[in-house]
Amino acid sequence: MKCKTCGQKAAVNMKQHSLALCKEHFLEWMPAQTARFIKKYWMFGPDEKILVAVSGGKDSLSLWDILWRLGYQADGLYIGLGIDEEIRYSDESHRLTEKFAQERGLKLHVVDIQKTYGHTIPVLAEKTHRGQERPCSVCGLVKRHEMNRLARDMGYDVLATGHNLDDEVAVLFGNTLSWAGEFLVRQSPVLAESDGLARKVKPLCRFYEKDMTAYALLRGIEYIYEECPFSVGSTSIYYKELLNKLENDNPGAKTHFYTRFLEAKKNGLFAEKEMERPALHPCPRCGQPTSGEGLCSFCRTIDKVSGASE
Ligand code: SF4
Ligand code: ZN
Ligand code: ZN
Repeated sequence: MKCKTCGQKAAVNMKQHSLALCKEHFLEWMPAQTARFIKKYWMFGPDEKILVAVSGGKDSLSLWDILWRLGYQADGLYIGLGIDEEIRYSDESHRLTEKFAQERGLKLHVVDIQKTYGHTIPVLAEKTHRGQERPCSVCGLVKRHEMNRLARDMGYDVLATGHNLDDEVAVLFGNTLSWAGEFLVRQSPVLAESDGLARKVKPLCRFYEKDMTAYALLRGIEYIYEECPFSVGSTSIYYKELLNKLENDNPGAKTHFYTRFLEAKKNGLFAEKEMERPALHPCPRCGQPTSGEGLCSFCRTIDKVSGASE
């Protein structure tokens, strides 16, 4: 297989685009495509301040690397979850994120959940019984709260996350199986700023996971190979496997599923649902937007834990 640009030996073959590229041209192609998607979906302009949520994994570190190479003002945010029981997942991902930032002279903000709120994520989940088998629902709640709080308090214009196309398609597939209209209406490469919620963007949403891995490896980015131990056996991993089978027999299937969904939305598929969105108001304690009366679910979770531990 030869590079389409220079004819040298290809390092990456992207069947979904009928495009093979050598290392040099692939490493040029990725930022160029990212810049195209940032413009296409109106994510942010050249003068806006970006906060990149980094987990130490290949996607978020590659996103930060790409934005840095494109010349954006992008700082990082690492949230220490305290998931260090079976493997030293949080410790190791924190170390690699610090190393990445230092090597490039980038600014990294770090929030440690245990230091800030008194408990690690697994303990918060156990005490609130929200964890069920996994602490993911509490973890998601805490991460959303902290990302929004820090983006807003530190004056960033936009919050960027490293979701790739496989992540987006797995979510879309799950929500389509259950026709979860309220989630489908919110799934987008950009969520506009509203009522105290920071604008959220996913600049990697059009790249396959395997191509993100290739980017990280070819750029020599040291990232945490292990997934969070709680992700093992999750529904989203199962959906990703199913979708990869579909993609194998039909290259481009994942891209079509996602881009046609975005087109259908643009053409008004969920116009009625969009009108139904509940009004948000600030939580009386933390000031973050909530749809219910009284405290937001994050503050209620923290209260429940304080009560449970008395
Ligand atoms: Fe949090 Fe791990 Fe669950 Fe992801 S898999 S939501 S990091 S507990
Ligand atoms: Zn080439
Ligand atoms: Zn609150």
